[in-house]
Amino acid sequence: MSILIKNVLLNDQRTDILIEGNKITSVSNNIKTEGIDTIIDGSNKAAFPGLVNGHTHAAMTFFRGYGDDLPLEEWLNTKIWPNERNLTDEIVYWGTKLACLEMIKTGTTTFNDMYFRFKESARATDEMGIRGVFPQLMFDGLDPVQAKKVQSRISAKDFEGNYSSRIMFSIAPHAIYTVSGGSYKWAMDFAKEHNIIVHTHLAETQIEHQNAVKNFGMSPVRYLNSLGVLRPNLVIAHCLWLDKDEIQMLADNDVKVIHNPNSNLKLASGHKFLYNEMNDKGICIGLGTDGCSSSNNLDMIEAMKMMSLLQKGWRLDPTALPAEETIKVATENGAKALNINSGKIEVGKLADIFLVNINTPAFTPFNNNTASNLVYAANGNNVDTVICDGKVIMENRKVCGEEEILQKANELVEKLIKQ
Ligand SMILES: [Zn+2]
Repeated sequence: MSILIKNVLLNDQRTDILIEGNKITSVSNNIKTEGIDTIIDGSNKAAFPGLVNGHTHAAMTFFRGYGDDLPLEEWLNTKIWPNERNLTDEIVYWGTKLACLEMIKTGTTTFNDMYFRFKESARATDEMGIRGVFPQLMFDGLDPVQAKKVQSRISAKDFEGNYSSRIMFSIAPHAIYTVSGGSYKWAMDFAKEHNIIVHTHLAETQIEHQNAVKNFGMSPVRYLNSLGVLRPNLVIAHCLWLDKDEIQMLADNDVKVIHNPNSNLKLASGHKFLYNEMNDKGICIGLGTDGCSSSNNLDMIEAMKMMSLLQKGWRLDPTALPAEETIKVATENGAKALNINSGKIEVGKLADIFLVNINTPAFTPFNNNTASNLVYAANGNNVDTVICDGKVIMENRKVCGEEEILQKANELVEKLIKQ
């Protein structure tokens, strides 16, 4: 199969993009149209690499708009955890389908997930046509007996199944306040053996920081460093509460960090994400939305704007995190963090691309600054076409099966949220 995107704007230059199989094979002018299976007229469009949502809990789309405006502890204890007892395979499957639908419609082609019943999420995502990384999620309540049980239940066989190459796996010790140090070490050994990433939450709130000092005698990053689990395949969501030495520890070990500005603001976890300080040390920083229970949507274009404006705002510096750099964070850096050969539109990369319609108010007047218009003026609704792994999965904003997904989600939510 081949796709030719003709005469599209890429970095504000007109070009053609040729996709053969699942890779980008040419980016140049006047590529011949003979023998091409699908030709997309790009004359009203700008192309960007597919967005990489570096941290989310996809099936939590069912909790959208439920339990807003509460403190984190109360929200988890009274709203989320009691209802999560009602989860079924069917709910996780359709919740993930709803998440994929929303991600496709807003230009995301890859996401790093963390939720229960990961096989259902993997199956749903495989069917929807985008990429996902799905974890064996670990909780042991810091109890050594429970830790042994959790570890003994996890095996490489869990990852076997009839999935496409778009589906990848990981292991996810949830956080240092729900998972023991022993289980973190075990997860890192398991990941090394199976060449997968380790995905966790860390240094999200001030309370987590204070409790780590109280319980372990040191701050969260120092604690993971003392366990020897800061490694290049560790992907950490949040990292809001850090000092200089901790940034150095992350840099020395090539740990990947995912910023989730919408979630951090809505839960009031903090807003001074140390982007410049980490970036200057060479840390790979990606962007995520977090789950729909704390960010309410999965729109990475909105998240890019929030990230950029937050950096400018708290630093009182309008030059902080310009639009082009924000796009790099949400594409190239995310792909690097997840060890996927995408995130750039260039020859040899996986064909994960989205097109925006520039014949819309957000891109008008045309000023040859599509990066600025994407980050500061547009939102996910400006995405017109999405290609993932060399296949067109949305054109003219139409996604296959959309009506059924919306209907199922409305039906199933009553089985999940009962209190
Ligand atoms: Zn999270």
